[in-house]
Amino acid sequence: MQCLECGTELEHVDNQHLLGCCSLTLHEYAIRHHLPLDLLVKREQLNQVDLAADYPSPQRGMSERARAVLRGLKWGGVMEKEGAFVIIPGEIRRLDQLLWDLQWLREYGFRFRQEYRYSDTTHRVVAKNRLKAPVENLAQHADMRLSPVPPPDFVLSLAVLIAHVGELQGDYLFLQFPEQSAGEAVAIEASVHGIMFKELDAADHPNGQLLRTLTRADTDRLLTLVSESLSEMPGALDRFRQQTPEVTVSKELVFDAAHFITDHPSKCSNLHGGRYLLQVKVKDRVDPSTGCVVDYGYLKRVTAKQVIDRFDHHNLNYTTAELAWRSSTEMLCVYIWEQLIDYLPAMVELQLYETTQSWCNYSGPTLETYQQTGSDGLMTHFINSKLGESHLRNLIQEKPPTFEVVAKSQR
Ligand SMILES: [Zn+2]
Repeated sequence: MQCLECGTELEHVDNQHLLGCCSLTLHEYAIRHHLPLDLLVKREQLNQVDLAADYPSPQRGMSERARAVLRGLKWGGVMEKEGAFVIIPGEIRRLDQLLWDLQWLREYGFRFRQEYRYSDTTHRVVAKNRLKAPVENLAQHADMRLSPVPPPDFVLSLAVLIAHVGELQGDYLFLQFPEQSAGEAVAIEASVHGIMFKELDAADHPNGQLLRTLTRADTDRLLTLVSESLSEMPGALDRFRQQTPEVTVSKELVFDAAHFITDHPSKCSNLHGGRYLLQVKVKDRVDPSTGCVVDYGYLKRVTAKQVIDRFDHHNLNYTTAELAWRSSTEMLCVYIWEQLIDYLPAMVELQLYETTQSWCNYSGPTLETYQQTGSDGLMTHFINSKLGESHLRNLIQEKPPTFEVVAKSQR
């Protein structure tokens, strides 16, 4: 077998050769030369068992930076327990970020491992890139807790958290936490730096928390606060610099619903039903670390929770006051936009089909504008407290005309 990097004839291309010849790992070499790992990995390298005894012991007394890095990873739920080890999984696209973490986490006895697995479910050899340390290396340290005492540098922990789990959508930064207490701790500390978050009801984890910067100004303050730390981490700042291509992604969902049109002169006044098809479109820069604009799963989850679950198999007129008078596709679009914009600040268009021949498109206000103006007046006519204030209402008479009373008394 010839090394496609340096041309040397070898029995096997392996990490030992590649690190000497081009500083690539076998996983990167396989991607660069679009070769299946099945061809490159030797049988004895598959499903290898790691022994905790082969790992170095933690050093005595951790540096401030090592503790801060560990806390940031813990906040983001990046660390996992696997048998006798604590794992920090990485992705091959972000290998240098993982190695940046490792330079500090070596103090805890972490090592980088590229492991190759073949399993019945994958039907091919897959590589996993991760940092690993024996569980007892960390169990001895108070830093495994969410709030170690004394707390390490907040800004570095925050930068590590953002580098690993932060997502920028339409100039708002999203952070997922597997534990609510971690999100709360971060929000409290960030508020000291004048950075506010909004909690959104769309956490990945059942006991987790999803935070979004409250305003675009909060995003600016946040990224300014951590930019120096992020600039140390390979590729981290690129994710938030927004220089990649802009792409529109769409998710299509359906719901079955009934409705009627108040005051309609003909049969639309009757209760009637149909299958609605909704397309939600989000336009944003591609995140260079994921190759995606937004996770389709998140797009689906948020739309299902905010829209589909409320409307499916319901009479739209009775789902909310905004639609009680008129649940036309136009009114539905404006209402749906207002339900989604907090969760999808890069949303650019909704397309709603009532039948295959009838549909409408809507591009509503940005989140920034919506935060200033609130719900559109179109939607609030019957909810507005001013309804009924007109002096003309005096002309509505409840009592029967008096001449009838007179007529009765004269009888
Ligand atoms: Zn080579």
